[in-house]
Amino acid sequence: VQAYLGQLVIPLVNKLQDIFAQLGSASTVDLPQVAVVGSQSSGKSSVLEALVGRDFLPRGSDICTRRPLVLQLVQTQRKHEDRVEILEWGEFLHIPGRRFTDFLAIRREIQAETDRELGMNKGISDKQIRLKIFSPNVLNITLVDLPGITKVPVGDQPSDIESRIRTMILSYIKHDTCIILAVSPANADLANSDALQMARIADPDGSRTIGVITKLDIMDRGTDARSFLLGNVVPLRLGYVGVVNRSQEDIVANRSIRDALSAEEHFFRSRPVYHSISDRCGVPQLAKRLNQILVHHIRTILPDLKARINTQVVTLKKELADYGELTESKSGQGVFVLNILTKYSHGFSSIVDGKYEEMPTS
Ligand code: GDP
Ligand code: MG
Repeated sequence: VQAYLGQLVIPLVNKLQDIFAQLGSASTVDLPQVAVVGSQSSGKSSVLEALVGRDFLPRGSDICTRRPLVLQLVQTQRKHEDRVEILEWGEFLHIPGRRFTDFLAIRREIQAETDRELGMNKGISDKQIRLKIFSPNVLNITLVDLPGITKVPVGDQPSDIESRIRTMILSYIKHDTCIILAVSPANADLANSDALQMARIADPDGSRTIGVITKLDIMDRGTDARSFLLGNVVPLRLGYVGVVNRSQEDIVANRSIRDALSAEEHFFRSRPVYHSISDRCGVPQLAKRLNQILVHHIRTILPDLKARINTQVVTLKKELADYGELTESKSGQGVFVLNILTKYSHGFSSIVDGKYEEMPTS
């Protein structure tokens, strides 16, 4: 399984988490969330899926993502080679305890749970579906798949569907810790992109928005996405990455993610216009950008983590001093242990409001 996301960051984050584990600290490395925004059918779910490297999200030409899907990737330890272990599985918050090892069953459950809440008639809801994916190949990070922006109500949708969806999306991407993947299809005018417009509202200086241009394969003949990717149409501080995901035909034919990635590679290799900007082309490049942003993020939070650890060390030292001086002599150690016990028993007594204070001592 190829999980592009986090291949470079995993060792770094692991090391940090090891340090925290040794400290017995509750502190963790809080990685930012990654959310996809864009109009309906722009390819948001396809992009997320390609980044995770597994097939499990409902995708299609109709409205598929009708509730926010909060996807928590949880890194598990690699097990011993000689033991047969199920290494990757999913678990839904609404079905506690059940391990989904079949990723197609995960997709079916997302669809079923969407329908349970909303019926089959295209309504949308801001009630989250929460899914955890456990795997040794992922980074501990949260990805959010959001319903796309639509303008004209269909089926059961209320007349103010557009503003409802916008409000829902904003509630996720307004947070400073959210990395925004602003997804726009290459076969539409970038200047009209809903994704870029929403991203600009939430992140005006563009410090956490990556532009993703999808559907490079179905642009009008004679056109290409070069000027989009170079930022000549809508400039974006962190720039753009162009991708080719699976088409509806590929979905129907059950084309695998692996095949799709090699088809994408072939697409860019066989088109000379993209050769000089190959660092902006393809899902692996998108993953690389995300990794760079994550590393940058970790660098910026390191001073704060260090401060937290220092505070903790100071507190522990003070606590230690309260127990009395550490001495090498046996009697000294005895006094030290006694002090600790006394302190704990006082603490205990106050918890059970003095009830056992007169417990007989033997
Ligand atoms: P979402 O609504 O934004 O989540 O979009 P989906 O990921 O569900 O994709 C919508 C439709 O567009 C599906 O039929 C996909 O197969 C198709 N699609 C997405 N990305 C591409 C792409 O890069 N090229 C082509 N040809 N089709 C794509
Ligand atoms: Mg979707």
